[in-house]
Amino acid sequence: AVDSPNLVAIREVVPAQSHSLSGASETDRTWTFAELLGEAEGCAHYLLSQFDRGDRITVWAPNVPEWMILQYGAALAGMVLVTANPALGAEELAYVLSQSQSRGLFHTGKFRGGDMAAVASEAISIAGVEVLAVNFEDWDRQVRGWTGERGALPEVSPDDNAQIQYTSGTTGVPKGALLHHRGLVNNADFVSRRGQFPEKGSVVSAMPLFHTAGCGILVLGAAQRRMSIGLIQYFDPTAVLDAAERFCADVVSGVPTMLIAMINDASFASRDFSACSVVVSGGSSVPPELVSTVESAFGAGFSIVYGQTEASPVITQTSPADTPEDKSETVGLALPQVEVKISDVVTGDSVPLGEQGEICARGYLVMTEYFRNPEASAATVDKDGWLHTGDLGTMDHRGYVRVTGRLKDMIIRGGENIYPREVESVIFTHPKILDVAVVGVPDEVWGERVVAVIRWKDESDQPTAAELVEFCTERLARHKAPKEWFSAEAFPLTGSGKIQKYRIASLVGEGAYGVVS
Ligand code: ATP
Repeated sequence: AVDSPNLVAIREVVPAQSHSLSGASETDRTWTFAELLGEAEGCAHYLLSQFDRGDRITVWAPNVPEWMILQYGAALAGMVLVTANPALGAEELAYVLSQSQSRGLFHTGKFRGGDMAAVASEAISIAGVEVLAVNFEDWDRQVRGWTGERGALPEVSPDDNAQIQYTSGTTGVPKGALLHHRGLVNNADFVSRRGQFPEKGSVVSAMPLFHTAGCGILVLGAAQRRMSIGLIQYFDPTAVLDAAERFCADVVSGVPTMLIAMINDASFASRDFSACSVVVSGGSSVPPELVSTVESAFGAGFSIVYGQTEASPVITQTSPADTPEDKSETVGLALPQVEVKISDVVTGDSVPLGEQGEICARGYLVMTEYFRNPEASAATVDKDGWLHTGDLGTMDHRGYVRVTGRLKDMIIRGGENIYPREVESVIFTHPKILDVAVVGVPDEVWGERVVAVIRWKDESDQPTAAELVEFCTERLARHKAPKEWFSAEAFPLTGSGKIQKYRIASLVGEGAYGVVS
């Protein structure tokens, strides 16, 4: 449930346009671009009075408007914004503060009933560093009301570092990807063009601002298309649908799990999304069926983005104008100015077209480094500038890329490599199954065995485990078909809404899921 008014709108400066935020209610707060710039400049001057150019400052909050002002303010002040997931606990936040050597921490007061201010001070004391904490509840007095002397704002170059984003951790310990303005701004621009975001339209997004998809693609991309942004404090399917309908959103976005929740919301059928022209999704594999379901449900074109934080974040993208097959089976072509190659995991050489290898990307979008982690940086970006994504895929003769697996996700069963993504894409086509996660669990004989955890579309009339095994073996090599099946009501998700695979594997071990017999 949404426990606070959670819609914040930043509307276009030109008032009379058909899809400006005409549905804005009295509880919404709206900013024109001109107002946003004024506040961001004020914020930059405040930041320069407290910190030095190049310093890191952390923001730890849900999607609140002060975050956006701070994001632009930090950029104008030449500081590096470290973005932290509001779901982090004190220990995890302490890690972010000390790893990034932050000098400031901006946070909300309360979030989902938790006392963020108390957790923030606990984190600062665990980190044992000197950090100036600013509570957004005190923003008006401390930042907006700051009246000190204003000098000139510094020159900030496109190659200066803009943000540190900790990878959200579907596979393990977070690393801080240091991203520059050139990467973030251009990437957002190219994504908004490939995705056919309409000029001066509106975007409704619940993608978290701590992730590049939220603060980059949507905030920066929409701003470059002069679009209004309806910002939702955190994901709640009904809240997003309400906002999309009320604001006549042209563009709606969310990771696949969010879209699944939206189209399964009880209120979905009675809504009017006639204004919507594009739905953008990605961040994890998009079930092919979801593409056509969403296209007909929203009456909109679908655009899949593929990438990762380290690539600012989008590497390839489908266009709403692509063919239905390309839109559902591929992740599209490389964005402009981006080179993509599929390389042999062992030798690093390009593999022939159509063969599987590691997806590598090169160009303006590649991160500067993992902050203060030279070993991980060298293992990820090679001396020729290629970012090794750790994802497996193929490329066809036209350059369309398919993502077929993830090196880190790989299950090794009796010496055979099995990529859960391949198995999941088969299971997704089962008409009774809503969502699936395939994981490897330890096995004395095989090393690992393949297990599927599923969410049913509805609880009645379910197939048996034997029928599900048969469904898979008809479509996959026998050793890849999961023999054990579990059902879950919900999956553990990262702050950006992606399934936490490594937690599912341990939950299976703990007997947390119902057995499908
Ligand atoms: P970590 O890197 O710590 O595991 P994470 O997976 O949450 O965390 P992100 O940078 O948010 O890190 O996610 C990037 C990964 O998500 C990609 O490397 C890829 O495996 C997957 N991914 C992103 N978009 C797509 C897509 N359209 N189709 C398939 N997989 C995708």
